[in-house]
Amino acid sequence: MNIDAIDLTRKLVNIESTSYHEGAVGEFLAEYLAAQRYSVERMAVAQRDPALKPGEDVGERFNVYAALPGVTPDVVLSTHMDTVPPFFGCTEDDEFLYGRGTCDAKGIIAAQVAAAEQLREAGVKVGLLFVVGEERDSAGAKVANENPRGSRFLINGEPTENHLALATKGALRVELHAHGRMAHSAYPELGESAIDKLVESLHDVLAMELPIEPEFGEAGKTTVNIGLISGGRAPNVIPDKAEAQILIRTVGPSQDVKDAITRVVRGRAEVTSSLDLSCIRMRRVGELPTMVAKFATDIPMLPAWGEPFLLGPGSIHVAHTPDERISKKELLACVDLYVELATSLVK
Ligand SMILES: [Zn+2]
Repeated sequence: MNIDAIDLTRKLVNIESTSYHEGAVGEFLAEYLAAQRYSVERMAVAQRDPALKPGEDVGERFNVYAALPGVTPDVVLSTHMDTVPPFFGCTEDDEFLYGRGTCDAKGIIAAQVAAAEQLREAGVKVGLLFVVGEERDSAGAKVANENPRGSRFLINGEPTENHLALATKGALRVELHAHGRMAHSAYPELGESAIDKLVESLHDVLAMELPIEPEFGEAGKTTVNIGLISGGRAPNVIPDKAEAQILIRTVGPSQDVKDAITRVVRGRAEVTSSLDLSCIRMRRVGELPTMVAKFATDIPMLPAWGEPFLLGPGSIHVAHTPDERISKKELLACVDLYVELATSLVK
């Protein structure tokens, strides 16, 4: 049976599934895939929305895993079911589908379901894994990684404009904590300003020479975003504490960057780290056009599912925006690319 990836995208986009609220779309997919004669498993993910009040409930959330009954898959196609907020439903014109999740990542789910249908007709042992929580904390991927199903290859989907990713940059979150001593601001010699220490530390962090990976082309720079600064008490009080949160997109081992920051701020701020997704390199396959993804994916969380690849239709530049959309032509082209990639991997 041929699956209409465009129509399936419409249906998926019209079911709201912002992170922590993936239950309904998971149920839809589980039933849809069971009707296609897959054996379907719901992998419960316990983590709840921290914003929920006690007693409030938005139902269960779970990953959906589908495979041919009794068959260990060679290759698994995978992406995420959750979206960023706010939800808005599907509209379209001749060229595009518009709506939250069209490119990140419900169009990709639809393309993978359509590709899997063709692959199993061609005798490829294929599986599908759709996870929750990618946009928040990868809670679904972590649960999936504890329950692998023996696949040798994992084709992950994110918007790469139908290019095969040769790498995904890493994401390293560090926090700087500066401490001082409060005093009346008229007598600064009696205190010690935590904010001065933090500002000087941040200045030096921005001036650091950070690793470059020439092989990654224009994506090969380590980039630094100081995303959040807090501290102080009042304009007339020498501040006793200040903190900054920094997100660094890495192109190599994160430990080197962490060590360099710790050295540069020594004596002025303490360094902690709350997220460390490594930079992942992937291999080239055939003549498929390639790119390097600057954004993070679930791939570092899914090592137990086989050698990773990353490919998907749509542009990351419109993901997470009110202009999110996917080209119908590109979506259908990606069905063929998934078939081609999976076939050449298992050959
Ligand atoms: Zn995504």
